[in-house]
Amino acid sequence: AKTPLRVAVTGAAGQIGYALLFRIANGDMLGKDQPVILQLLEIPDEKAQKALKGVMMEIDDCAFPLLTEMTAHGDPLTAFKDVDYAVLVGARPRGPGMERKDLLEANAQIFTAQGKALDQVASRNVKVLVVGNPANTNAYIAMKSAPSLPAKNFTAMLRLDHNRALSQVAAKTGTAVKDIEKLTVWGNHSPTMYADYRFATVNGKAVKDLINDQEWNANVFLPTVGKRGAAIIEARGLSSAASAANAAIDHIHDWHVGTNGKWTTMGIPSDGSYGIPEGIVFGFPVTTENGEYKIVQGLEIDAFSQERINLTLKELTEEREGVKHLLPA
Ligand code: NDP
Repeated sequence: AKTPLRVAVTGAAGQIGYALLFRIANGDMLGKDQPVILQLLEIPDEKAQKALKGVMMEIDDCAFPLLTEMTAHGDPLTAFKDVDYAVLVGARPRGPGMERKDLLEANAQIFTAQGKALDQVASRNVKVLVVGNPANTNAYIAMKSAPSLPAKNFTAMLRLDHNRALSQVAAKTGTAVKDIEKLTVWGNHSPTMYADYRFATVNGKAVKDLINDQEWNANVFLPTVGKRGAAIIEARGLSSAASAANAAIDHIHDWHVGTNGKWTTMGIPSDGSYGIPEGIVFGFPVTTENGEYKIVQGLEIDAFSQERINLTLKELTEEREGVKHLLPA
């Protein structure tokens, strides 16, 4: 039998946590033959810890065969001890009257502390996925706060944008999601993200020929994918949670298991590819194999795409500037 892998989840008593933990314990993330240990972090606040206990009671009641151990934590230094994976979901939501700057700073504190804790106690190979927003910049902060860990192991979730784009392209072309390949999303997990189907194929046919409508791309597709989160809040009265959890599962699953040459999208620290400054956590098309991702190289960036990439990069550069003073030099 395989040795259990340790998985930390933060914000474990929140909405996304509630949709995520059961699936991890069920083997959807790391494989149906991979035992897991869950190390769950919530704020030390009594109410949050109590809610977490309630979620853990439900998880117990599922009697998941793959779940070998589960612990509750109020301190990242114990929650992250020896973890192989860390899914950082908990983040400070934007409160009434809170400026973007306040939000960035509140989260910078959380992710500095968590990056430091990972640096101190996690497995030297820990792989980190940041879901809590602003996800790309939070991942950047955690990475910068963990100098002894491989920077490439800090990633942000662009997969929900990727999956949303897949579903829109499938609907538009009347095809099945499973047949669509080579789609990607560039940039920030925010409405500025650039979902790009120029290289996509469906059963070998070029998606852009099937759609052949730049108006639809610019005026329907991109705004629909970019504002999907807001549309769900409007319809459901709550923010997306199950789809976000599903995307987190997909992200780690593909990183762990490999994509067999197929493209997916991950937010990763740039290595300078496509002119994105090194270190900026940016959505790129990647393939994965043996627990490592590789950026798909050599794609042509046309004028429209360059403009969109510049826009989302500008936002990320500004976010980075906004937290610079809080980070180690
Ligand atoms: P959710 O579980 O709904 O969301 C958690 C985070 O995921 C938010 O930052 C949210 O961003 C983000 N997110 C990323 N992608 C998506 C998406 N597509 N749809 C929705 N959300 C997305 O929040 P809850 O408030 O229910 O739970 C958060 C938990 O975290 C709470 O239990 C709280 O106690 C804990 N927490 C922990 C902190 C810490 O670790 N120090 C700090 C603050 C909270 P967005 O805000 O943009 O919706």
